[in-house]
Amino acid sequence: MQTIDDTMQRSLRAFDDYRITTPQARAVFLETIAANIEALGDALIEQASKETNLPAARLTGERGRTTMQLRMFAEMLREGSWVEASVDTAIPDKNPAKPDLRKMLVPLGPVVVFGASNFPFAYSTAGGDTASALAAGCPVVVKAHPAHLQTSVMVAGAIARAIETCGMPKDVFGHVTDGSFESGKYLVEHAATAAVGFTGSFKGGKALYDYAAARKNPIPVFSEMGSTNPVLFLPDTIRQNGQALARQYAASITLGMGQFCTNPGLLIAMQGEGLSVFLQSLETEIAAVVPAKMLHEGIHKAYYEKMEAALKEKGVSLVSRSSRQPETMEALPAVATVAAKTFLNDPLLHEEVFGPYSLLVQCAGIEEMKAVWKSLAGQLTTTLMGTDTDFSEHRSLLDLAPSIAGRIVFNGVPTGVEVCPSMVHGGPFPACTDSRFTAVGNGAVKRWVRPVCYQNCPDSMLPDALKDANPLGIWRLFNNTVGKR
Ligand code: NAP
Repeated sequence: MQTIDDTMQRSLRAFDDYRITTPQARAVFLETIAANIEALGDALIEQASKETNLPAARLTGERGRTTMQLRMFAEMLREGSWVEASVDTAIPDKNPAKPDLRKMLVPLGPVVVFGASNFPFAYSTAGGDTASALAAGCPVVVKAHPAHLQTSVMVAGAIARAIETCGMPKDVFGHVTDGSFESGKYLVEHAATAAVGFTGSFKGGKALYDYAAARKNPIPVFSEMGSTNPVLFLPDTIRQNGQALARQYAASITLGMGQFCTNPGLLIAMQGEGLSVFLQSLETEIAAVVPAKMLHEGIHKAYYEKMEAALKEKGVSLVSRSSRQPETMEALPAVATVAAKTFLNDPLLHEEVFGPYSLLVQCAGIEEMKAVWKSLAGQLTTTLMGTDTDFSEHRSLLDLAPSIAGRIVFNGVPTGVEVCPSMVHGGPFPACTDSRFTAVGNGAVKRWVRPVCYQNCPDSMLPDALKDANPLGIWRLFNNTVGKR
């Protein structure tokens, strides 16, 4: 652990210099990382494909998303209002006198990021957690995911070159390649660590959260731990569009062999003629899906264990499976079904099966659909499929939805997470350990900062964001009025 200790100590020292870099300097740094990742060219894609079994086209898209994220945070830094600067000038003749008060967000300190196995670029070494923490002014130490270690080493090299070119503190980025739970625990418990970002299993994310909570000085852990992403098929749409819905959902369930935290793992619908058409079409669609290799052996093994355990539960029956026999490391796409009454009394069926599997819960009526929906633990997404008639007849569902998930999708699929200011990729526990934040989009930066108030601070001593003249030209709340004052 000597090397990790050294990495964390150096990260903490780098914080002093990095926290006072200008937003413009950090923006150029993030853009340089993006350019350096692009400069790695096909060699990076080939390495990632070799390690993860993901096809080159998917990885090329993911690399584009990763460099776009870095540039998005650079843009956010230049625009500047993300620091939420607020100024309340003094009122000396008030009784008692009101002091001059100014508030803004400041970086927390070194952030430890656990690379995610299912996004070797976008949620790993230079992914969303790293980009947002570096934007906030926090040094980052990444624990590389062992399933794509060499890919991580290549991206870490791109970051190291950007540090040099941009004259950033040498240790603003650290890379831990020792793949063991002990090193992960040590990183979370290290006194220099100020916050943690994680995407992965519930077991892993909750363990890191518990280590952090047990520290002498607890720190925030933002674990994104997945979800079953329940989809409600309302009666009118199922009656009218059964076949089209089955095609759309078979594609979403099996996209990337189901290895997305937004995979629709739970379908909820009402019994009836429409549902029979939907089921028949789903059977055909799933049977036609060709199995493909999963990310790593652990995920492959966990998929079969969890799917087989779910299929063995009383009352669960298989609707369809791929007609092609899977080969080594390949996943078997499958859909099963169960009656709502059985589902409500069987906690095992509520658990995520990470892979191309989904469970259709059949309900007797809309009230039972609601009961199933309400029985679920916190989710990243929930989806409502319905016609205008459905939505006007079941308006109360819309009021309920925000208590279930962080993102509510209408007439679409939950897979595919846009990166933009309005995105929420988070949700009530156990989808996330802190439902107040998002792991995707500009808002992700808010996980790594805290507010500080300056009282009666001389103008010359204030950070630029709070100075009288507003030299950064950012939007501020000035004496309760929003503007560029
Ligand atoms: P994982 O097991 O949660 O591991 C992710 C990272 O956390 C790894 O670096 C791992 O360390 C570390 N870790 C896990 N448990 C730990 C503990 N108790 N103490 C310290 N460190 C710990 O995720 P995975 O390897 O990617 O896949 C396993 C399962 O996670 C999948 O089958 C799936 O169910 C789930 N998963 C979910 C998502 C999602 O988006 N929600 C994404 C990927 C995977 P090591 O480096 O030592 O292994």
